[in-house]
Amino acid sequence: MNYYGHPITKLIEELAMLPGVGRKTAQRLAFHILQMPEGQAKSLAGAIISAKENIRYCSKCYTLTDTDPCPICANEKRTKDTIMVVEDPRDMAAYEKTKHYKGLYHILHGAISPMIGIGPSDLKIKELLERVQNDPIEEVILATNPNIEGEATAMYIGKLLKPLGIKVTRIANGVPVGGDLEYVDEVTLSRALEGRREL
Ligand SMILES: [Zn+2]
Repeated sequence: MNYYGHPITKLIEELAMLPGVGRKTAQRLAFHILQMPEGQAKSLAGAIISAKENIRYCSKCYTLTDTDPCPICANEKRTKDTIMVVEDPRDMAAYEKTKHYKGLYHILHGAISPMIGIGPSDLKIKELLERVQNDPIEEVILATNPNIEGEATAMYIGKLLKPLGIKVTRIANGVPVGGDLEYVDEVTLSRALEGRREL
C-alpha cells in the first residue's frame, strides 16, 4: 500500500527484508531515518555501500575483512600451527574477546544442515583441507556450535582430517548444548577451549 509516497514505501520494503525486522519495525525505522539530520542519514547509507564494496573474504581463513590477508592471518605473533574452525565470523570475534586463543581461524560460513539444503560443498571445507595440506598445521580445533548441525559438521570434518595425521580436537561441553557460540560468555568459552578433547 502506498500511503506515504513511493520513496518511503520503498525504504520500508527494503528494511522489512532484513532478518528479524517485521513490517512494523521497518516502518518505525523508516520514519526514524527520515527524521535524522541529512548528514547522519547519508552516513548510514554510505556505511552500507562501503561495507558491501570493501569487505571481502580473507583468502586464507575466509573471515570478512577489508585487508587480505586479514589482520589475524597477517599477525606474525599468532601461532601458525593451530587452526580453530568456526561457523561464523561472529564466533571468531567471541573467541578473540577471551584473549586466550593465539592460533589461526578458519570460517566455514555455516554448518551442514540437510534440512535447509546446506551440504559440505556449500561451506569452506575444501578450502580448510587445502590449508591443512599446504601449511604446517599440527592441530585443528573444531569449534562449531554445540547443536545438531554443529556436531554433524565437526564429525564430518574430523573424518576428513584424521587420515592426514593431524591432531583434531573438539571444544568441551562447557558450551551449553543447543547454544550459539556468539552469545556464550567469555569464561565459558575459555573453559571450552581449555577442556577440548581429541577426536
Ligand atoms: Zn584471515
